[in-house]
Amino acid sequence: MEYIVNKNAQMGTGCHKIHTKECKNGPKKENRIELKECMCPLEAEKKAKKYFTIVNGCKYCCKSNCL
Ligand SMILES: [Zn+2]
Repeated sequence: MEYIVNKNAQMGTGCHKIHTKECKNGPKKENRIELKECMCPLEAEKKAKKYFTIVNGCKYCCKSNCL
């Protein structure tokens, strides 16, 4: 699965949301940073943390499944 992270933080929480590329709740193309192919949401989260301090998986597409 390919993942992306929102360049823009959420209002209030300052959190950058991680989504799969297919997620309908994901940000617009110009607001995405490509995280490329990841085994699971946790791997995507690690990659996203290189860009942003506070990241969080989308509750629709990033239900953790590799713990
Ligand atoms: Zn999502």
